[in-house]
Amino acid sequence: RPVSTETLKARGLSRAFAGVKAVTDVSFDVPAGRITGLIGPNGAGKSTLVNLITCQYDADTGSAEIEGVDLTGLPRHRIIDHRVARSFQNLRLFSGLTAFENVLVAALAAGNSRQRANAIALRELEAFDLGSIAAIRADNLPYGARKRLEIARALAQDPAILLLDEPAAGMNPAETDDLADRLIRIREDRRIGILLIDHDLRFVNRLCSHIVVMNRGEKIAEGTPEEVRGNPQVIEAYIGR
Ligand code: ADP
Ligand code: MG
Repeated sequence: RPVSTETLKARGLSRAFAGVKAVTDVSFDVPAGRITGLIGPNGAGKSTLVNLITCQYDADTGSAEIEGVDLTGLPRHRIIDHRVARSFQNLRLFSGLTAFENVLVAALAAGNSRQRANAIALRELEAFDLGSIAAIRADNLPYGARKRLEIARALAQDPAILLLDEPAAGMNPAETDDLADRLIRIREDRRIGILLIDHDLRFVNRLCSHIVVMNRGEKIAEGTPEEVRGNPQVIEAYIGR
């Protein structure tokens, strides 16, 4: 497994829906070996930004480059060729498949042989404490396990950059702490770059050395947790609603 050194560079990304500016001219980096936070009030444009990077939506302007390749404009299923993977805010598991099969499908889709995909699926299930429930259908798993499975599935594609859209949403505090521990281990072991969207600021502050803040489609601040916390525009964005 090669150690990641890639940086994802989002530059000037914009997208409007029927005249509503969801994302306006947003630029930031997701470097290897760092968990970068992306926060902002509901409707700030966080999910849309991820959807632009991974080609779920077409960008009106801007680019998302990794290793000199612009991902925007690629067919969605080709994103993983450039080692970018994501989880979805609303889970997108195959409900009729087992936990193991869900991860296996992702490893196969990333171009691995059946034998190698098997090994990868088992490893990722173990990394998220899902080994003992590998044979259970996704729709019969408890919510917290389904959230972890969504991440395990993204990691089975061996990304250099992992984009996580509200992975701790709906988890209880113990599950959230456990997920934080697992993400820290993944960052340390694999040195991948992670973009972490979440509303739980305690969770974000624990994991992220660098945080990007959005409000009403625009990036309004970026910096260390301390810098961001003391920024008047950030305080205004969170209180002014
Ligand atoms: P966040 O993830 O920060 O809560 P979103 O990116 O989901 O915000 O939404 C940003 C804005 O874009 C919102 O006003 C939302 O209603 C709008 N939006 C997002 N996706 C669509 C879509 N597919 N069609 C129309 N409007 C959308
Ligand atoms: Mg969202």
